[in-house]
Amino acid sequence: MIQAPLGTSDILPGELARWRRVEAAAHDLMARFGYQEIRTPMFEFTSLFVRSVGDTTDIVEKEMYTFDAGSTESVTFRPEFTASVVRAYLEHNLHKQRPFQKLYYLGPSFRRERPQKGRSRQFHQFGVEALGSGDPWVDVETILVADAFFAGCGLSGTSIRLNSLGCPECRPRYRDAVRAALEPDRGRLCENCRRRFDRNVFRILDCKAPACHAIAEKVPAIGDSLCDRCRSHDRTVRDGLDASGLKGRWSPDTRLVRGFDYYTKTVYEFTAPNLGSQNAVGGGGRYDNLIAELGGPALGAVGFAIGLERTLIALAAQEKAGETPNDPTVDVYVVTVEPGPVSRAAAFSLATDLRRAGLSVDLDFEDRSMKSQMRTANRFNAAIVCILGPDELARGVVNCKSMSEGTSESIPRGEAAARLPDRVAAARRATPAVASKE
Ligand SMILES: [Zn+2]
Ligand SMILES: [Zn+2]
Repeated sequence: MIQAPLGTSDILPGELARWRRVEAAAHDLMARFGYQEIRTPMFEFTSLFVRSVGDTTDIVEKEMYTFDAGSTESVTFRPEFTASVVRAYLEHNLHKQRPFQKLYYLGPSFRRERPQKGRSRQFHQFGVEALGSGDPWVDVETILVADAFFAGCGLSGTSIRLNSLGCPECRPRYRDAVRAALEPDRGRLCENCRRRFDRNVFRILDCKAPACHAIAEKVPAIGDSLCDRCRSHDRTVRDGLDASGLKGRWSPDTRLVRGFDYYTKTVYEFTAPNLGSQNAVGGGGRYDNLIAELGGPALGAVGFAIGLERTLIALAAQEKAGETPNDPTVDVYVVTVEPGPVSRAAAFSLATDLRRAGLSVDLDFEDRSMKSQMRTANRFNAAIVCILGPDELARGVVNCKSMSEGTSESIPRGEAAARLPDRVAAARRATPAVASKE
């Protein structure tokens, strides 16, 4: 038996209702906030990610799915979307039509990580990129969007960690301060962090190894090193969050650095309760130099990415979800009384007419007893069951039973397609509980 590769998963019919709810929440929200969808290819030239994400990051050093595409340059399955979105923005001159563009995306990304709960090698992200503005209020807006998304999914209790990473003017000062603070304990850092010390010292601040965690406590906060512009930007974001109803929901976290080189100024992360140490469900920040680094004009930008698998795990943890319903919901289930080809043909023809009338319909194909067909109709949450027995077939009628009202009526077979849509609607109205079962 061939199985799916490690770190990938199938999304089965029983889980898809949740996925589609979360995706619908994203699309609805984006319309409300004025973001437009963009779809970019799943793979790009490798150099795009090396230049944007950064060649000393974990992602580029060891997690990319890179392959040789024959005659062309090496290509890589996208480990994230931001670089692709910025590339497309520049390649299609979107910035010349209108420099400020608010875009969003939804789709799979790929990283060769050690698979664990909530961390797959193919995972799905929803994210926004507000390109072409340096205004701190745009940072605030993206945080509000992410917050509204989690609320729209029904996830409660999320909190926001916020930090500033400074800019090319003030960050070198902070880098020196971090190195100076870590230098005495350099030999006690974990192997990864000893390597990071010269190459990417900020990543030591969010290392999960207990020894590194303790050592990093001694590192001064970046606040003291920020230049005036970064300090004032940071203050506007903090005040903006408070003024927008998020007071008490966010907290400063000077160890938040995020795993990408391109971030400047604001960075933030959303965490959800009940997820243990892997509690981040999404995050983002400002990247004021990336557009220029990828060959465009000097324009600021800010965005976030949310992990959909993580969000769904957080939702499941919240609901302590029991069984996931694995059954379709139909308007009408057609039940036959006698097995055999005559009943089957009549049931199939009725189902076809009703489907053409816009109803969702299913029927038995296994010659099961009437009782077990009725059980299936119940499991499928059918509003109406159409019963075709020998008597109905002989008289050219359909016995239509409303499952919620418990009533039955005989409808001429020729009128079924015209009359049943109204009967279904009436039966659904009679049972609000049925409609909300999903
Ligand atoms: Zn600065
Ligand atoms: Zn470490």
